Amino acid sequence: MTKKLLILILLLSNLSLGAQERCGTEAVTKYRAEIYPEYRIARGNVNNQTKKWITRNPNYSAKTIITIPIVVHVVWKTNTQNISDTQIQSQIDVLNKDYRRTNIDIINTPSVWQSVAADCEIEFCLANTDPNGQPTTGIERIQTSHGQFGMDNDIHTSSLGGADDWPNEDYLNIWVCDLGSGLLGYATPPSSWIGDGDGLVIGHNYFGTTGTVQPPYNKGRTATHEIGHWLNLEHVWGPDWGPNTGCNGDDNVTDTPNQEEWNYNCPAFPHNANACGTPNGDMFMNYMDYTNDACMNLFTNGQKTRMISAINQYRSNMLNHSLCSGITSISENTTKKELIRIVDVLGRETTRPNSNTHLFYIYTDGSVEKRIIIE
Ligand SMILES: [Zn+2]
Repeated sequence: MTKKLLILILLLSNLSLGAQERCGTEAVTKYRAEIYPEYRIARGNVNNQTKKWITRNPNYSAKTIITIPIVVHVVWKTNTQNISDTQIQSQIDVLNKDYRRTNIDIINTPSVWQSVAADCEIEFCLANTDPNGQPTTGIERIQTSHGQFGMDNDIHTSSLGGADDWPNEDYLNIWVCDLGSGLLGYATPPSSWIGDGDGLVIGHNYFGTTGTVQPPYNKGRTATHEIGHWLNLEHVWGPDWGPNTGCNGDDNVTDTPNQEEWNYNCPAFPHNANACGTPNGDMFMNYMDYTNDACMNLFTNGQKTRMISAINQYRSNMLNHSLCSGITSISENTTKKELIRIVDVLGRETTRPNSNTHLFYIYTDGSVEKRIIIE
């Protein structure tokens, strides 16, 4: 038995242990590092290159908003798997809210972490031009006879029943399919070497907020999480694949507290206080933990810096292109919005704003404004 085959079997058997596996990125990264030695070497240099870039570019936040063009490859066998345009657009909408911190549930971020929560200044669009220069909806539908997909090359290879990549230096490729082994999704972290299959693979029933989605993973946060990996974020407990890694695992971000392992479901705050010398415990509502979609609500400033660094170093075609028509900013939404309610940082509704207190104004279009009256 070859080493490659043995590793694949180990990965697949490990994945079959859990009923639902939030994320296969650590496993697929190890797998790809085995079959592509260039990737293993390049990934080994990423953390040092990232530290150097951040040191050299302390004013990165002065840059304009980055818009990432997406192509969604819907690879389907049954009609159910051939998800609607509406379901796909609902996912794009979630990404644009989560990466601009206009998601309605920012009020659930504990007050101790409101100051580190980031507007990542990254937006997304469905690409308007295909690799041949022709107009496109950014959605490609491929009928297949393939059964459930896994973490091998089938999903991104048309001759094996999948859909070929669009050039992955220009587009974020997202494959949506029937993903097996209870796996919700996975992504390929960046490096100076980018190969076929770069992008995200997401199970159709965890993509977007409508149609075939299944709770508790029905708020589009699987793609939010996986794009975090695609832009070089680690899980909040560190790079190790598995629980109980202790407090030493480092996600290379200073403003996410140390935590021992992943969290499923939705704990109450604070959770695991002082387990790693951290009085506020785990940041389980970070998009890079494993909690339920409805439980997640932030990236931190440190995570934002790491993602901006990754785009500049490894995905620099995303900085300057015309694949989004300029109609990408959610701030350009012209529908009339009306105030629904005003809440404080603990989510309590209020009608008489006090001065010098942060309050959140929630509108009918899903937008949220943070305001403070200063006297
Ligand atoms: Zn993950």
